Amino acid sequence: MKNATALSLEEVLALDGGTPIRNSALPYGRQSIDANDIEAVVRVLQSDYLTCGPIVSLFENNFAAQVGAKGAVSLSNATAALHAAYHALGVREGDEVLVPAMTFAATSNAVLYNGGTPVFCDVDPNTLLLDPKDVKKKITKKTKGIAVVDYAGQPGDYESIRAIAKEHGLWILEDAAHSLGASYQGAKVGSFADCTIFSFHPVKHMTTGEGGMVTSPHAEILTKVAQFRNHGITSNHREREIQGTWAYEMHDLGYNYRLTDLQCALGLSQLKKLPGWIEKRQKIAATYREALKDSKLFHPLSVQNDRTHAYHLFVVQIDLKNATESRAKIYQALRAEGINVNVHYIPVYLHPYYQKTLKMGKGLCPNAETAYEKILSIPIFPSMKKEDVEDVIEALQKVERFYSKI
Ligand SMILES: *Cc1c(COP(=O)(O)O)cnc(C)c1O
Repeated sequence: MKNATALSLEEVLALDGGTPIRNSALPYGRQSIDANDIEAVVRVLQSDYLTCGPIVSLFENNFAAQVGAKGAVSLSNATAALHAAYHALGVREGDEVLVPAMTFAATSNAVLYNGGTPVFCDVDPNTLLLDPKDVKKKITKKTKGIAVVDYAGQPGDYESIRAIAKEHGLWILEDAAHSLGASYQGAKVGSFADCTIFSFHPVKHMTTGEGGMVTSPHAEILTKVAQFRNHGITSNHREREIQGTWAYEMHDLGYNYRLTDLQCALGLSQLKKLPGWIEKRQKIAATYREALKDSKLFHPLSVQNDRTHAYHLFVVQIDLKNATESRAKIYQALRAEGINVNVHYIPVYLHPYYQKTLKMGKGLCPNAETAYEKILSIPIFPSMKKEDVEDVIEALQKVERFYSKI
């Protein structure tokens, strides 16, 4: 197959001048917006309240009900949600929080915002979920809590992590930016951790443009988060108007991390469609798994059978010992075919900021570092057509034909 002169242009890799599988690039993720969403936002534009209005709590209440949470507080994005959640959980100067190395930087940055220190833990090589064994090893007298990331959309190993947390008196924060709509041993994500945070960035399961949410079974945590997002003030303007009072008190140093009514209207409208979208993601994932079951080059991450997967990402690990080319070349080859694959994530502590400020470097979490060299996220989003899914599979098979040793 390597003798390109004997092949038609369809059979040559686009990277080598052949015809690409697709003419228009397929992104790895994208939002779905319909006429109902647009109408919902326009209705708010014509109403009295663009922010701090009644749609905010309506969205929060519906969201809480849908994920089985006691309550929910909306914020301007999930990074603000993490900032507020760690604050409400009590992270202060000198505290350590255990964080998986394989995550988006915001999970650990928000520990730093609160003056705490993120301590990076390794992940399981087959799921890339936080490894409870490494969590145990990294607990010190300063450890206050454990941040678990439901990587790609699969909930973490909560049974083991809960046992460790209980033994050491630690809280659990669940970064569910990838796992809205998933469940663990029958319990919905958002219903069981001390604090769960969600993201409504357009690439996530549902969107409000930018947006985030905190859920918690603890009323005092929800109150603290609500104050933190509103300058540390105990009531908002509309509540004061309803009560006929101008008086308010600032009890804590807070921020303006509010989500607007415009955004909450979009969120409410999107929320209704969420279950169907998760199902669609799961169907696409099942098609990928079937197509890749005999692949020599691309191995999907494994899924535990006591949880459901919400598939924010579909991640494959490249079997580099069977590959004739590097991950970088395979990445480029797939992009040239019109399939916009991505890499999630570089281990957080390898970012220059972490290396410089926290004096961290290579060798800290070997499994995360090894995984980083061989992972690719392939496109998955609810509005993908059957032909889009087929294009992805065809491109993976084409690249495998050229770049596999066996
Ligand atoms: C997207 C994401 C965030 C941050 O979300 P924003 O809403 O963009 O601030 C945090 N953690 C993880 C794991 C994410 O994927």
